[in-house]
Amino acid sequence: MSRSFAIVGAGFSGAVVARELAEDGHRVTVFDTRSHVAGNCFTERDSTGVMVHVYGPHIFHTAHEHVWDYIRRFGEMMPYRHTVRATVKGKVYRMPLNLTLINDFFGTNFTPEEAEAFVKSKADQTITTPVSFEDQGLRFVGRELYDAFFAGYTSKQWGVDPKELPASVLARLPLRFTADDSYFNHPYQGIPRDGYTTIVENILDHPSIEVYLSTRFSRSQMSDYDHVVWTGPIDAYFDFEHGRLGYRTLDFDKQVHDGDYQGCPVMNYCDADVPYTRITEHKHFAPWESHDKTVTYHEYSRLCGENDVPYYPIRLVEEKEQLLRYVERARAERNVTFLGRLGTYRYLDMDVTIHEALAAANGMREAMGAGTPIPSFFVDPLGGS
Ligand code: FAD
Ligand code: UDP
Repeated sequence: MSRSFAIVGAGFSGAVVARELAEDGHRVTVFDTRSHVAGNCFTERDSTGVMVHVYGPHIFHTAHEHVWDYIRRFGEMMPYRHTVRATVKGKVYRMPLNLTLINDFFGTNFTPEEAEAFVKSKADQTITTPVSFEDQGLRFVGRELYDAFFAGYTSKQWGVDPKELPASVLARLPLRFTADDSYFNHPYQGIPRDGYTTIVENILDHPSIEVYLSTRFSRSQMSDYDHVVWTGPIDAYFDFEHGRLGYRTLDFDKQVHDGDYQGCPVMNYCDADVPYTRITEHKHFAPWESHDKTVTYHEYSRLCGENDVPYYPIRLVEEKEQLLRYVERARAERNVTFLGRLGTYRYLDMDVTIHEALAAANGMREAMGAGTPIPSFFVDPLGGS
């Protein structure tokens, strides 16, 4: 039986679930407060002709074959292998931590085995169960590498002492004893030839989907639909009744230059006395294109205010307690499902976002088939860190 759905948010979460429901024969209306689709993955060509990742650099990488197949149904993915450089005290290194970086940093000429033994000798073996980011860093690579590459960058990025951050934030970066400087380990990586916006527009291009941009959806409209999928902030749904969940926001200082500004897509600045965290040079995300001009973003991180775009959920102890209260309220709601990075207050890469949206659509399909209520969540927002 066909039902009517409102989807709040036209990012990857909202678009994917909208498409799945529309393909099942339901009527779907999508709302977004922004004037464009694709949420934070929005890309657009600047007057220079460069494809700009407007809300910060986005590289698609995944180990999920079905997600890789899914995204390629809606746009051409060009081969792209992401690398990051880091500047520390005026010298440039190849991230992530790998054999070349270790030899460059310590002025050595280690083989892989020697480098591994050396880093092991530096690692703080007294830390058996790392709890904080700092523990993890010292346990992982020892004091010198930690201070140079992680302490300053992380304080700028998160605005707190790394002792207060969970170990898991660092656990997602690799450490290698080969010269492989690929930033991600995933087998599938790419950048859409025509940008992420075109992909999301194609996902939403279905006769049973209507999209309203520059339109805020509010709870008073819920009764117009059989079910609502909410990919906006979970605290906003409840009018912030337990306070605002903490996010970091980003400011981008956009500059246009001639030629090539830094010769690579992303340069991290790890020293605490450099105010920005990194510089992104957008045209290097499309090495198959050529442009005379170049567009750069100097990226600054700060606490998210009421009128800022929320980027990274902070998820320290205080926020997790607040989140628990919202999740309990959400579980008691009927006819609404919370999804995506804002709806579940978790950092999600695009591939995980798509994977979870596909899984949620499946779960909704099953619930409707069984005649049971559609759950408020298809993941546990309190799980992980
Ligand atoms: P969003 O994209 O945030 O979409 C939610 C939408 O809901 C927004 O457009 C918002 O306007 C709308 N909305 C909210 N409330 C309402 C309302 N009441 N009414 C109507 N609309 C509403 N992932 C990667 O895989 N690779 C990367 O390299 C990568 N880089 C990143 C870099 C940065 C700086 C950041 C912050 C994230 C990065 N990500 C990356 C993660 C990626 O941005 C997310 O996975 C993705 O945006 C999640 O999609 P979403 O639909 O859940 O959320
Ligand atoms: N990080 C760091 N120095 C770097 C790069 C990363 O200290 O040069 C830390 C930082 O705290 C960051 C985390 O490692 O949040 C994870 O890195 P990633 O590149 O995944 O950054 P994110 O996606 O969080 O921007």
